[in-house]
Amino acid sequence: MSVRTRFAPSPTGFLHIGGARTALFSWAYARRHGGKFILRVEDTDLERSTGESVNAILEGMQWLGLDWDEGPFFQMQRLARYKQVAGHLIASGHAYYDYMSREELEALRKEQLARGEKPRYDGRWRPERAKGKPPPKDRPPVIRFRTPEEGEVGWHDLVKGPIAFPNSELDDLVLLRADGVPTYNFGVVVDDLDMDITHVIRGDDHVNNTPRQIHIFNALRKKLPSFAHVPMILGADGERLSKRHGAVSVMQYRDDGYLPEALVNYLARLGWSHGDEEMFSKESFVSWFDLEHVSRSPAQFNPEKLAWLNQQYLKAAPDARLARLVGDALESRGISADNGPPLERVIALLKERASTIAQLADEATLFYRWTGEATIELAENVSKALRILKARLATVPWNRAAINDAIREVTKSSGLKLPQLAMPLRLLLTGRPQTPSIDAVLELLGRETVLRRLAHHLETD
Ligand code: GLU
Repeated sequence: MSVRTRFAPSPTGFLHIGGARTALFSWAYARRHGGKFILRVEDTDLERSTGESVNAILEGMQWLGLDWDEGPFFQMQRLARYKQVAGHLIASGHAYYDYMSREELEALRKEQLARGEKPRYDGRWRPERAKGKPPPKDRPPVIRFRTPEEGEVGWHDLVKGPIAFPNSELDDLVLLRADGVPTYNFGVVVDDLDMDITHVIRGDDHVNNTPRQIHIFNALRKKLPSFAHVPMILGADGERLSKRHGAVSVMQYRDDGYLPEALVNYLARLGWSHGDEEMFSKESFVSWFDLEHVSRSPAQFNPEKLAWLNQQYLKAAPDARLARLVGDALESRGISADNGPPLERVIALLKERASTIAQLADEATLFYRWTGEATIELAENVSKALRILKARLATVPWNRAAINDAIREVTKSSGLKLPQLAMPLRLLLTGRPQTPSIDAVLELLGRETVLRRLAHHLETD
């Protein structure tokens, strides 16, 4: 059977780093094996699910280029199907109606805690125990699964190896709530079956749910999919990844100026490896990806490494593409790239120095926004040298080499050292103490702009 994987997010927030990594692994596994990748939205938590989150998750996946072949399917549109399957389970004796009230459940919980036991449902509405007990008329029942009480349940996890749980640890879980909405464990099994999922790849926070799901598969007499539980992602301090460790939303990385291929490359290395390879294309990743090399221990999120990778991708990206991205970033800051040198040439000059699009936009701003303010006291000899330079710049051929010659000659004839002239020149022309090579900056600014800015500062003295 051909491989079918899925990503099944709950739409209760944006697509975060952990979710994106799970989606990436599921996607890559399907692509590696020429299979299908299915997107399913698990929106049964009515209080926390929002349409906004659905859109944010789809947007994040699209930005990362994780294309899906089927879906998105929405669980809340499949309620009739869950009801039908729950009905089959009741008919075959694997599930039953439970009429226990919230108050009764709470009382039971208290008693168990008082006895030092783990709170769990006691199976009091199992048909064999509730014989002759009339169901209360005014209370709509939930449907519970009849979990085997003896023996154990296990599977061979494709990441973690063999895992087993004693059945005595599992109580009779609710499959369908009184309002007809399935619980997570039931919805997942029905959907994984209906969608013919062959490989369930998900976060290892679900390891405890898998035995319950296996029981339901077995009760339905269906073949189990393979399970692969990928370890979680921790911050550098060993704590579960959270906002404290930097951005956790995938789209925040776009807004902060990361390239999607850099983030994909980084996520691929979070808990998976291919020898010592650090930088590789998505195509290589797909051709290499396997579950055997997914690490068993938690991965550590390292923002510096991500920034380093992004820098490598920026350097390798075509200037025209970066110009579009930087142009958008400038525009969102209210800066137009139309009244200045061609953005592509500015990018070519700056890109070695930046590790994000946002940083590139910061640097590029000096070519497109000039306030005319520069707080600098010019010594008499420096001011004089700048005037001489200005006169020279009015006539030199406008290229980097000639501009450089002019700056050096004037520096020398005025008895100055290069920084004594270059530093004020930078400040007057760009408002910044640091820029790329000053001759390159002048060349790009253009003769007219350079002369106008210098005149602004020197001729008002
Ligand atoms: N909706 C679940 C989650 O977001 C999916 C778990 C699964 O893949 O089975 O954690």
